[in-house]
Amino acid sequence: MHKLLVRQLKKSHIKPDEIDGKWSKLLHLVSSMYCDLDEELFAMQHTMKKLDEDMHQVYEKMRGRISAVAETMPDMIVLINSQVVSIELFSIGEQQIFSRDEIAVPHVNIHELLIQKYHIGVLAEMVHEALTTKTLQVKELEIAEYIIDISVMATGLVEKNERTLILSVRDVTLQRKAQKNIEYIAQHDGLTTLYNRRFFNLTLERLKKEVSGDDFIAMLYMDLNKFKEINDTLGHHAGDIVLKEASKRLLKLKQNGDLLFRLGGDEFVFICFKRENREEIERFGATIAKTFAEPFLIEGNRYSLSASIGIATYPEDSRDFDKLMRFADEAMFFAKTHPDMAYTFFKPEMIEAQERSQKILDRIQIALHEDRFTLHFQHQVALDAENIVGVEALIRWHDDELGFVPPDEFIPVAEESTSILAIDAWVVRHVCKAIVRWQQENLPPLRVAVNLSRTGLGSRANIEKLITIIQESGIDPGRLEFEITESALLENEHSSLQNLSLLKELGCSVAIDDFGTGYSSLSNMRHFSFDKIKIDKSFIDNILTNKSDLAIVKSAIALAHNLEAVVVAEGIEKKEQALLLKRLGCEQIQGTTITNPVTKRDFGHWIGAVFRQLIPKYNCRNFMKSSVLYENILQEEIVCVLYQLL
Ligand code: C2E
Ligand code: MG
Ligand code: MG
Repeated sequence: MHKLLVRQLKKSHIKPDEIDGKWSKLLHLVSSMYCDLDEELFAMQHTMKKLDEDMHQVYEKMRGRISAVAETMPDMIVLINSQVVSIELFSIGEQQIFSRDEIAVPHVNIHELLIQKYHIGVLAEMVHEALTTKTLQVKELEIAEYIIDISVMATGLVEKNERTLILSVRDVTLQRKAQKNIEYIAQHDGLTTLYNRRFFNLTLERLKKEVSGDDFIAMLYMDLNKFKEINDTLGHHAGDIVLKEASKRLLKLKQNGDLLFRLGGDEFVFICFKRENREEIERFGATIAKTFAEPFLIEGNRYSLSASIGIATYPEDSRDFDKLMRFADEAMFFAKTHPDMAYTFFKPEMIEAQERSQKILDRIQIALHEDRFTLHFQHQVALDAENIVGVEALIRWHDDELGFVPPDEFIPVAEESTSILAIDAWVVRHVCKAIVRWQQENLPPLRVAVNLSRTGLGSRANIEKLITIIQESGIDPGRLEFEITESALLENEHSSLQNLSLLKELGCSVAIDDFGTGYSSLSNMRHFSFDKIKIDKSFIDNILTNKSDLAIVKSAIALAHNLEAVVVAEGIEKKEQALLLKRLGCEQIQGTTITNPVTKRDFGHWIGAVFRQLIPKYNCRNFMKSSVLYENILQEEIVCVLYQLL
């Protein structure tokens, strides 16, 4: 009998052997039912156990899978409740997340770390928002020196009557650093580390949107002069040295509230937000110009460069930032075409000046193409020998549309393009032709001075081209004298002196023109033997009345003589000036008191008449005293002056 049934009978004080008959049969039936139930129970237990084992396996498998997925994620994933208390940590993301000293993994206490320690309330707010709006909440927080991306999302899970949320935390410090790096590269110029053109354009866009008041803002547009020559003659490496040095100098001048950009090439821009007024900006412009006046050291050699600076200010010049930029650029161009002007503020007339410059540039091309230039010659007279010693060739241009354009106007414009090199070549070619012609007419071998452009002086290729023209013409190179200005010489000190040596070697002489108007570099005079020094007209003008001018002229004469150079005084308009200069020891003069520049034909006639017919010894004095012929050629007044003078 089944033991449970025996136990039940015992509890009921019924002895099984006392039962008989049909009850005994029933008991056996019940007992066998108990046994059947036992078997079923056992089978059931067995099934349950198996089920439990299977379930566990499935659970472990699922958990393993979730963990495997979670572990590959770069985030720390935590199940939290609405009190922001961690329920379960799924993944700690990449090991570096919170593996800092103060935040140890894996047993991280999110609540303490994020809320109590750093951002009390921020996470609670995110949780609240996530629960009420059922949307993903994302925030970036700075924790210590790290940037942490945090997102919170409510799940469908409810535990202990509370909805659970998933908090994911990601360390984005490196990404943000890389992003900043990319942004830096996109906004900065690789060579100089200054802001680049792209950032300049962005800044203009920003200013257009954000600036509307009357706060003073200044834009200074700077361009290095003769940078191209450095690049062309010494190579890009030298150009890079100049650009880096220029940036360094500009950065030293930068103040709080200034933005400095390199737009490309040798163009730089300052936008100044915190300067007081135009007076302060003017001083700033002068300081920038001064910093560029210092020579640049390139591979042991000193090169003088300068900068042209154009300034436009907000709101005076314009409230439109695109225009302001254009105006600063126009002002810069204006300064560039005025070699003595290092910086200038924008003026509306400059637009007209710019348009005229452009027109001149276009017409120069046509003039070159159609051979519309002519040459005039101005005599140079020796004060002691009393005769004509040479002439200066001066270019003349009468344009059909622009009328007469003086060289003082079109030469600086041409200097800003390669046209100037074509003009240099044109002048030398035509001077050589004139010399050949005068030779054929048996005129005396006078020396002809040619003005060499500043761009032409700096370019070896140009000098070589001029040498070829001279050689091909067949003239004696000793008949040519090249005049170069002091400022042109200073711009390309090194290459200029080398180029001048080529002309000297050929047999030409070299004169310094407009002496005293540029920055005289005595070291140049020490390194190169100039044949002539031409004292500029501006000193001669007031020599009779201004003691300082007289003192400067005296010193220039003494200096030239010590260097064994001949002195020519330019722009003599009064005979008294000539007489005084003669007393001071000046050898030669040139100016309207002798004659205005005349055409090649007039000059040929004049000199032919003088030398062939009237003065066999090439002596001016005899010529002056003689025939009526000269009266047709020279003005009477000039003759009188010469007569008394000589
Ligand atoms: P520069 O080389 O100093 O030439 C002297 C200038 O002074 C000439 O002006 C001449 O006509 C002027 N001049 C001479 N004597 C007197 C005088 O007594 N009084 C006054 N008021 N002026 C006098 P120009 O021909 O107008 O030339 C001006 C400048 O243009 C030249 O100065 C030179 O720098 C440049 N230039 C002229 N021709 C050429 C050329 O063929 N090539 C280049 N590159 N530049 C040239
Ligand atoms: Mg000259
Ligand atoms: Mg001159």
